[in-house]
Amino acid sequence: MFEHLYIHVPFCIKKCRYCDFYSQTNLSWIPAYVSALCREISLGAAAVLNETAVPNLVDPGSLVKTIYFGGGTPSVLPLGALETILKTLYRCHRIDPHAEITLEANPGTLDPDYLKGLKSLGINRLSLGVQSFDNKKLGLLGRIHIAAQSVNAIEAARAAGFDNLGLDMIFGVPKESNSFWKREMDTALGFCPEHLSCYMLTLEKDTPLYIWYEKGRFIPMAPDARADLFAFTDVYLENHGFSHYEISNFAGKKKNRSQHNSSYWDMVPYKGFGPSAHSYAVLPGSGKNLRHQRSWNCSDLNAYVDCLAQDRLPVDDYEILGVEEQMLERIMVGLRTDKGVDIKGFNGLSGSSFQTMFKDLVEQLESQRMGKYTGQTDRFGLTRAGWACLDSIVEAFARKIKI
Ligand code: SF4
Repeated sequence: MFEHLYIHVPFCIKKCRYCDFYSQTNLSWIPAYVSALCREISLGAAAVLNETAVPNLVDPGSLVKTIYFGGGTPSVLPLGALETILKTLYRCHRIDPHAEITLEANPGTLDPDYLKGLKSLGINRLSLGVQSFDNKKLGLLGRIHIAAQSVNAIEAARAAGFDNLGLDMIFGVPKESNSFWKREMDTALGFCPEHLSCYMLTLEKDTPLYIWYEKGRFIPMAPDARADLFAFTDVYLENHGFSHYEISNFAGKKKNRSQHNSSYWDMVPYKGFGPSAHSYAVLPGSGKNLRHQRSWNCSDLNAYVDCLAQDRLPVDDYEILGVEEQMLERIMVGLRTDKGVDIKGFNGLSGSSFQTMFKDLVEQLESQRMGKYTGQTDRFGLTRAGWACLDSIVEAFARKIKI
């Protein structure tokens, strides 16, 4: 059933000021986490709870094409822990010998021996959380590393043999100018990464940055300036040979697009393991209807470990997506990518016609040069100007679907 596996590693050395992901800084939990995680993989390699809450055990079917260690900070895990997890995955799943195996890594946690170890374990893609090459900006973001550590990590990763290297960058800190951000991109491009992720800094509730904002100590960039910087990034990186294939992601070559993350945007089933990990499955339903099911694990590490100590799957809850929810989901993920919404897939959901349902909205987006049909009109996607207004466009689609 699952060709894509996600492992959530819920540890960070220190919380960054802007981040609201679930992670914790008490690394003494790592051994208990690894045991519980391996138990979860063994118990429920193919399990997404069905309505009688009976999990399947091991799925002998699909060939796994991607494995993704995300977090948190997966690179806080010792090599021995990663080896144990990978061995468990290989024991419980059929893994394609050419599978893309990605690990998110924080430059502040890496050294040459660790990187060589990752390579020898079969990790073949690194997503390096550089974020910036400016120490003042890194300090504002509350990162644990300085720019020199990113440079060392990139060079050591290349020396260890990583030829599929992604650099994650953040832009849009207060008063960030095009020329400042251009210097950041130039530095990143100087290392010839195969992939770049450029995330606009967003204010998430309950983060230290948000508290600063409420106290007037942090003034976010104005929406127009953000849109300008976004458009500048698009043009600059495309001019340097990168394809802007998803709103925040750029690939040097087509083969360097993140296969794992593309599975989310293509709405392909995936299985997540670890605290707070989500899974998405398409299950046989009654009649010809398939059940599109999303489930998620409990996020509390203590509860997660306890649950697995009793050989229970740590699924917190699940939901079956109704037709309208599936429609909106297809639109939300499709509009994020350069491929756009798969209209045939959309129309097949309920017999509704995308063209009829959204006629006015689509015409309006076309006239504003924010959206267009692509291929043989079998897909509808946003232009770069449309991407700059993605949230409000998705809301306009949602109003038509009436969710
Ligand atoms: S290292 Fe990543 S996951 Fe951890 S706090 Fe920072 S941004 Fe969040």
